[in-house]
Amino acid sequence: MTSNHPPHVLIIGGGIGGLSLALFLHKAGIGSTVYEAYPPREAAGGGLNIAPNGMNVLAALGLAQDIISRGAVTMQHCFRDEHGKVLASIPYGNITKYGQPGVSMSRADLHEVLAQAAKVAGISIQYNKRLTGIDQHPTGVNACFEDGSSDSGDILIGADGIRSRTRSIILPDGPQPAFVNVVGVGGFAKISDLPEITSRELRSLNFTFGAKGFFGYCAAGNEYAMWWSNLYATEPMSEQALRQLSLDSIKAEMLAIYKDFHAPIATLIEHTERPIKQNISDIQSLPTWHKNRVLLIGDAAHAVSPNSGQGASMALEDSMYLAKLLRDGNGDYEQVFTQFEQDRKPRVEKIVAEGRRRGAGKQAVSPFQAKVRNFMMSIFLRLFGIKGQDWVYQYRVDWETRQRA
Ligand SMILES: Cc1cc2nc3c(=O)[nH]c(=O)nc-3n(C[C@H](O)[C@H](O)[C@H](O)COP(=O)(O)OP(=O)(O)OC[C@H]3O[C@@H](n4cnc5c(N)ncnc54)[C@H](O)[C@@H]3O)c2cc1C
Repeated sequence: MTSNHPPHVLIIGGGIGGLSLALFLHKAGIGSTVYEAYPPREAAGGGLNIAPNGMNVLAALGLAQDIISRGAVTMQHCFRDEHGKVLASIPYGNITKYGQPGVSMSRADLHEVLAQAAKVAGISIQYNKRLTGIDQHPTGVNACFEDGSSDSGDILIGADGIRSRTRSIILPDGPQPAFVNVVGVGGFAKISDLPEITSRELRSLNFTFGAKGFFGYCAAGNEYAMWWSNLYATEPMSEQALRQLSLDSIKAEMLAIYKDFHAPIATLIEHTERPIKQNISDIQSLPTWHKNRVLLIGDAAHAVSPNSGQGASMALEDSMYLAKLLRDGNGDYEQVFTQFEQDRKPRVEKIVAEGRRRGAGKQAVSPFQAKVRNFMMSIFLRLFGIKGQDWVYQYRVDWETRQRA
């Protein structure tokens, strides 16, 4: 499976991984087309924090300043108990050490920055193109879409998220996404509606741990704050129940749990706009990420729990590293895909495991257990701070040095 001309790459999924891959391929002189199932701006809800390692990837695309101007820089992680007592406060946005700060923003804004950059670069993004089938042959690959159309290229990259159709085609008997007993809830509120929020809170990622559960919040850019929380459930919510949700029902449910947590939590919930509620799943280690001319990246290959705060950054790192390998490879795609998986898997799987561990610490517990957990957490965080996370945030893809085969 060797070719001596630059490949044309079919990218399935116009999310964080797919769009950033198209941009890095463009930088490497490799052409691609992105196929996204939804119309523009429809797929992206909620907010997210891009960690310094992800921001370094965006900086390599020249997009860091745009992201910072639309989002909110977070300088520290602040852990509190439900009464507002600070358990630990540790620096996060250490630019000298990590190169870039962490930035929180709406997912829609991040997509818009990436899509706009792709447009400027002349990259074709085809919306309303839902992949249904893949046909591989000795000289190329065809992608078939729900609307009856098809397209062909040299290789196909599945960046189509946790419910990846690409994955189910190349690994029909592989692991399926599994519900992790968490329903994620979140939303945005105007900062002007939150008189109690402090400037310290607006510069921090705030994590509050109480007996009844966990509540996180931070500034999100554009004069908004965002919040998120985990609800534990034995069964995932049905499609019908998710469709029937209303802003009022989400607010009422969250206030019933968190109304006695410290300010500004109740006010944040009361002023929520654009709420989001979804079943959270992850996926066990896949036996392989590739088959012949097809490779999976981002959540399609390794869905990281939101508790890690690293899913977007992993998709960004994947994109940059894959584009570099394709640029420097000798046209043997299978060799490139094998090397990609071999080099990326240990790091992402360590982060997946860390995300699961963090999720377990956020469950509702008895008041006594909450006190013990919070005491242990404050000791641990004060002793080790963020040093334990250096391996996550300091990671860099060296774009300039050419990769030896
Ligand atoms: C509630 C929640 C909070 C999170 N918070 C954070 C956070 O704070 N920080 C962080 O780093 N990560 C966070 N994550 C994880 C992060 O969102 C993902 O890891 C990241 O979006 C993965 O990027 P991706 O490009 O692989 O997939 P996605 O962003 O899911 O993009 C996949 C794209 O493929 C498209 N698609 C799907 N199927 C098809 C098809 N058949 N044909 C064509 N297109 C298709 C989708 O519409 C979508 O646009 C969070 C996740 C959740 C659920």
